[in-house]
Amino acid sequence: MKEFSFSVPQDIIFGEGSIKKVEEILKKNNWCKPLIISGKNLTRLGVADKIIKLVEKAGCKAELFNEVEANPSVETVEKAALAFKESGADSIIALGGGSPMDVAKAVGIVAVYGGNIKDYEGGSKVPGKITPIIAIPTTAGTGSEVTAFTVITDHARNYKLTVFSYELIPQYAILDPELILSLSGPIAAATGIDALVHAIEAYLSKAASPFTDAFAEKAMELIGENLRSFTADRTNLLAASAMLTGSMFAGLAFAYARLGNVHAMAHPLGGFFNVSHGVANAILLPVVMEYNALSDKGRYKKIYGYLVPDRKVPEDFTPDLLIKVLKEMTVNLGIPKNLQEVGVTEDMIPAMAEDAMKSGNILVNPRQSTLEDIILLYKKAMG
Ligand SMILES: [Zn+2]
Repeated sequence: MKEFSFSVPQDIIFGEGSIKKVEEILKKNNWCKPLIISGKNLTRLGVADKIIKLVEKAGCKAELFNEVEANPSVETVEKAALAFKESGADSIIALGGGSPMDVAKAVGIVAVYGGNIKDYEGGSKVPGKITPIIAIPTTAGTGSEVTAFTVITDHARNYKLTVFSYELIPQYAILDPELILSLSGPIAAATGIDALVHAIEAYLSKAASPFTDAFAEKAMELIGENLRSFTADRTNLLAASAMLTGSMFAGLAFAYARLGNVHAMAHPLGGFFNVSHGVANAILLPVVMEYNALSDKGRYKKIYGYLVPDRKVPEDFTPDLLIKVLKEMTVNLGIPKNLQEVGVTEDMIPAMAEDAMKSGNILVNPRQSTLEDIILLYKKAMG
């Protein structure tokens, strides 16, 4: 067995109404000037206000930066960092899906070490501790509340840059299932598929270890059983709880095992065509799984078991059965079937493939991949 190490250097709190813990966390750590980083929608829904009141209950004052968009940009990080500086904040509350968390992590770096987030691109450029972050996910989800990555779009290059450092892991993750009950169906489906892809790619990754396998398998079990029912009825608190927990477990798995070709190829689709991350993953998943089948050592059968009712796996299982289930799932969840449907044009495939090859996820994909392979996979995903 290969060597492995693992640590979860943060407090993870789960429970209905657990956002109330914000008050206690601020007091315990003597943080009294948090900047809430979020998007407009959560302000409209009154969720940001709830957090502001909880901060006030702790005898403190919060400022709100709510201008985070989907696929957040370098410019948004600059604006948020300025808001952080001007408010004299001492901590960050990241409230929302993956985008606000990515911005929060990026602001946490530049607030301490200065410069532009682009200066920290790659895997080893964050010098040390960043501003403390309390992460409160409102989707299930990116798992960003427990991961060591931030992904920011650089429009000048049509490129989604990644910063990786274990210093980026938020100190606290508060998982309150009540916060995801107001998600729309399409968002529940897209973010849920993203979480499932995290678990599957981490499970098949060359960097997987027994620790990451344990988290990935639990994630697949929870998400496999609940993704359809949660998308069908987002007021189902049990399904919401399972999805939120599952996406966190998937996050823990890929924080250490990394991902694979689906994610390497999804990021350029966001960079070039602003395709939402979950939708890009959902479209690419069956295509990449079909390609990776050649490397399968029996794990496809296990994944299949987590995705079908009663875990009924036929004795004569072959990988194409899993591909079929994944395709059906995408259609049932109402996600577009191919890249053409989301406005992707073939002329950009070579450039997107070049960018995909720069991702570290290519290196841990179970089947070795060349630029030509990635071009073919994009073409296949066009439909
Ligand atoms: Zn993802």
